[in-house]
Amino acid sequence: MKTASELTTLFRDRGLRVTPQRQAIFRLLHGNDVHPTVEALYESARTEMPTISLKTVYQTVHDLESMGEVALLDVGTGSIRVDPNVDHGHHHLVCTRCGTVRDVLLDVADLRVPARYRRDFTVEAVEVVFRGVCDTCAAVPVGP
Ligand SMILES: [Zn+2]
Ligand SMILES: [Zn+2]
Repeated sequence: MKTASELTTLFRDRGLRVTPQRQAIFRLLHGNDVHPTVEALYESARTEMPTISLKTVYQTVHDLESMGEVALLDVGTGSIRVDPNVDHGHHHLVCTRCGTVRDVLLDVADLRVPARYRRDFTVEAVEVVFRGVCDTCAAVPVGP
């Protein structure tokens, strides 16, 4: 994802308004590798920008997605996650207990759908999700 100042220029070039609220979201997302939910992003933005609304955060994230600056992921954690790492194709590790999502750089170019399943279908993208338990959650005993 581009820097906050590059995004400001890009938005203005496209005739989109850039408010201090939007710039706060750009800054929060740049280099962010925790795949925040839109709600988590809103909570962080509110600490520096108390007047920001959840609607503004949603709108900004969707504008960024339509420009290809972020990806919106559904990795089965119950909420859409915002992924600003669009420069490197990657896959994800997902903790099924706390919902932590981490990047995995992995080459899946050799992963092919067997011909008998591929008929009448064109594959355009492959997403690999590794589900498991992170070390923090593994250290917490389950059950009573
Ligand atoms: Zn966990
Ligand atoms: Zn990612």
